[in-house]
Amino acid sequence: MSDLQANKHDFSANVIGHFPGGVHPPERKQPASSQPIRKLKLPQELILPVRQHIGPSGKVLVKVGERVDKGQRLTEAGLSQGLPLHAPTSGTIAAIEERPTAHASGLPEQAIVIHPDGEDRWGNKHALPDYRDVEISRLLELVQEAGIAGLGGAGFPTAQKLAQQKPLKHLIINGVECEPYIAADDRLMQEHADDIIAGISILQYITRCDSVLLAIEDNKPEAIKAIAEAIGDNPQIQLKIVPTKYPSGGEKQLIELLTGHQVPSGKLPMDIGLLMQNVGTAYAVKRAIIHGEPLLERVVTLTGESLKQRGNVWALLGTPIQHLLDESDFTPEKKQRIIMGGPMMGFTLPITEVPVIKTTNCVLAPTEKELPSPRPELACIRCGACADACPATLQPQQLQWLAKAKDYESLEKHNLFDCIECGACAYVCPSEIPLVHYYRKAKAEVRNIAREKAKAEQARKRFEARQERLEREKEERLERHRKAAEERKKMQQEMQQEAQQKNSDEPGNKAEEGTEKPTGKSAAVAAAIARAKAKKAAQAAKESPEESNSAKGNES
Ligand code: SF4
Ligand code: SF4
Repeated sequence: MSDLQANKHDFSANVIGHFPGGVHPPERKQPASSQPIRKLKLPQELILPVRQHIGPSGKVLVKVGERVDKGQRLTEAGLSQGLPLHAPTSGTIAAIEERPTAHASGLPEQAIVIHPDGEDRWGNKHALPDYRDVEISRLLELVQEAGIAGLGGAGFPTAQKLAQQKPLKHLIINGVECEPYIAADDRLMQEHADDIIAGISILQYITRCDSVLLAIEDNKPEAIKAIAEAIGDNPQIQLKIVPTKYPSGGEKQLIELLTGHQVPSGKLPMDIGLLMQNVGTAYAVKRAIIHGEPLLERVVTLTGESLKQRGNVWALLGTPIQHLLDESDFTPEKKQRIIMGGPMMGFTLPITEVPVIKTTNCVLAPTEKELPSPRPELACIRCGACADACPATLQPQQLQWLAKAKDYESLEKHNLFDCIECGACAYVCPSEIPLVHYYRKAKAEVRNIAREKAKAEQARKRFEARQERLEREKEERLERHRKAAEERKKMQQEMQQEAQQKNSDEPGNKAEEGTEKPTGKSAAVAAAIARAKAKKAAQAAKESPEESNSAKGNES
């Protein structure tokens, strides 16, 4: 179906459809979903990686030793150049240096380190309770300036997503939170339903969209109740309860569930008139516009049986994971794994000194009994279970073979980039093949190759442009020389003509009637020959005087 055709479709807001594949892992959202969100004591230091989102990092605005207020901007970034970062509390900039970050590799990235002073002293806030009096472009700037990235996990800058919008059929708000263990959005909806609805109204105003579909999985009855009450009789927001199945919160899967339509491969929801935001993002937008507070903290689920105190916390961005564990009565096992994210899409942290960033929704510390470590990978038995589980209708085993063979061209043809890395295939694989690991590696490699190709293409274009310029300059130079030579020739001819004219005007040089009159050129040549002959004779006389004398005698 073409995009245009898709846009013409009248999406029924009542569809609770179906998406292919999916799995039903144990939910294990208790006790996190039933405990109020806790506030934590301040850590000794906050580590803020300069880049916490998809896109480039901003320019650092602070210096080591500088005192900063809560909410003060630490980095600067324009609408198309990433996101700014703010001080989550007041304190002193202790360092600007490379620190390990929340990534499976644990590789260091540039980070701003703050030592909190305990005063939690706010800087300037620009609250805007009457946002409808303001231009939409200004609201987009404010969302951007607040440093808000999609809090559902992708981390795409929210203002950029809102700014790119085309006319919308529906604004979809994702409160599904389908991954086992994680209950951050669930608790946020239970405790801040009114704030979320206020944030949705701002998003509606910015996107000029009358129809909102707010989706929640049916395993969150308290959140459903709170959100239903907050919506009240607002006819523009429809609450949609979706059946519990993993990964129903995936962007394309939720769209299929709610509208019955698929986002075509390689396209965005926007291409079929839809835009999706997470409930946490709606909450952050409300704090940014109505209260003038940038994104400084987020709800993080702390769970797993190695933690005695499980639940959700308000974690300041930059809080070291070790601090969260220390605050949760952590009793590690011998070979304790700490997973950032859930058991399906998360990754094991190499160290716990990495910080909470904008996309951190869960820290999972399971016991070995609760969540056994992956066993060694066995050979694929071609059972096809992975393909049945794949919500993106891919062929996971084939993708894995191609990834192992580094056949990147075929991987792209087999829609590797439609893989949402949900882990459903690996979850059902009897051979315990870490399929997602292969896809992530292959995607990184494909992106790398594309980057290198783009660089080489740029270099080629630069080289060709230089060659063209040199060639052009050479042509111009030759043309200049040709013209100069012509000029010279012309001048010589004119001078010769003048001389000839002068010669013929002298009376002694007038040619006798009937004899051929020598030209100026032949006269000059004759004179030159005569001069040369005379010179030769003089030279010969000088070199052999006897010969000359005898010649004279012979002559006498
Ligand atoms: S589930 Fe595992 S063993 Fe079965 S086909 Fe897929 S990769 Fe092979
Ligand atoms: S990780 Fe990718 S290939 Fe595996 S089930 Fe999910 S979408 Fe399909």
